[in-house]
Amino acid sequence: MAYVHACSFCGWRRESATVVMLSPHCEQCGCTLDAVAPGDVRRPAGEDAAPALPSLKTPLVRLLTLVFAVVLLVAAARLGFARAGLNGGLVAVGVAGFLLLPFAPERI
Ligand SMILES: [Zn+2]
Repeated sequence: MAYVHACSFCGWRRESATVVMLSPHCEQCGCTLDAVAPGDVRRPAGEDAAPALPSLKTPLVRLLTLVFAVVLLVAAARLGFARAGLNGGLVAVGVAGFLLLPFAPERI
């Protein structure tokens, strides 16, 4: 019986003879794949319809995100340096960098 290893997030799929996956991650988005029968493949939501929200990967949004990150790091360094000297500035930059981690792209 043939199976399909499908990504329910982006719709990527590949044919397979077994349910066993040696590489269980989607090649496009990295999500975990589902092993299903070919008739049970679910299409990702919104595949037919136009996207409800505009893409956030525009150059303007990336530029604004970069400017925000730089301003946050500079402000943290200045505040930390003013309050506790060089060590405070380094700690504040580290904390600000840690808080910016969720905004870093998964694949740089
Ligand atoms: Zn995917």
